Amino acid sequence: MKLKIKHGDQVEVVTGRAEDKGKRGEVIRVFPKNNRVMVQGLNIRTKHQKQVQSEGRSISPGIVKLEAPISISNVMLVCKKCNKPTRVGFVREEGKSIRVCKKCGAKLD
Ligand SMILES: [Zn+2]
Repeated sequence: MKLKIKHGDQVEVVTGRAEDKGKRGEVIRVFPKNNRVMVQGLNIRTKHQKQVQSEGRSISPGIVKLEAPISISNVMLVCKKCNKPTRVGFVREEGKSIRVCKKCGAKLD
């Protein structure tokens, strides 16, 4: 299966949690098996960390903020050329699949 979104891409959240809608960020992890991506600074979940004693060091309690994976269907790739969220098409070139912007036709790989 061809992945439309890769590590390092800019994506925009098009649906999902209201607080993230319309926001953009860089993809920091891709989970191809469950069709999810982790986007820097988006879909932040807070975790309450308890005080932990570990080998004499203590980790302070507090709130830890972590990105949670977002479904790929909730984000759209932002085209580097036209700077708009776009659907991705594929063209074959020299035996490879190259991603193209469906809006302006720019090659994205
Ligand atoms: Zn474009």
